[in-house]
Amino acid sequence: MANKKIIGLYPGSFDPVTNGHLDIAKRAFDICDELHLAVVGNPSKRALFPVEERVELLKKTTKHLPKVKISSFDGLLVNYAREIKANIIFRGLRAVSDFEFEFQMALINRSLHPGIEVVFLVPNEKFIFLSSSSIKEVAKLGGNVKGFVPAVVQKALKRVY
Ligand code: ADP
Repeated sequence: MANKKIIGLYPGSFDPVTNGHLDIAKRAFDICDELHLAVVGNPSKRALFPVEERVELLKKTTKHLPKVKISSFDGLLVNYAREIKANIIFRGLRAVSDFEFEFQMALINRSLHPGIEVVFLVPNEKFIFLSSSSIKEVAKLGGNVKGFVPAVVQKALKRVY
């Protein structure tokens, strides 16, 4: 991509955003000229937080990253990538268990949109075991999620549970 502006798209459920997501976002940010974080409004996954609140939480927790654009979309990821002229899709890889699904999606997305590259980033090892679903489980059972999610997300979880 010599001399080409790198426009990155990091999509996810972000239900809610965790420090693992933010670790990946920072790494993606350092690579891109422009980075979009986009909440997938996927109706097949039952979410705890409505899309608007997930967007809001992402906005609040990425204020330190200048010019990161936060949005949401429905439908095909590659269509959204085309719309915003993204040329890289970022995904985070935690463990081998993420790999098979991500690999399959990457190949499907590239066949739907040959102009896009999928780049996998690996988080700091302290976030390797962190997922939004485990955080929701811990919060639901009254556990302390400090250190795993930003303070605003902690508050949002407290409100829900
Ligand atoms: P999705 O429903 O798209 O998997 P998630 O919000 O669960 O949405 O994850 C979005 C992306 O962030 C995925 O690529 C996922 O692998 C990655 N991710 C989530 N948590 C972490 C973490 N702790 N470390 C690294 N990557 C992560």
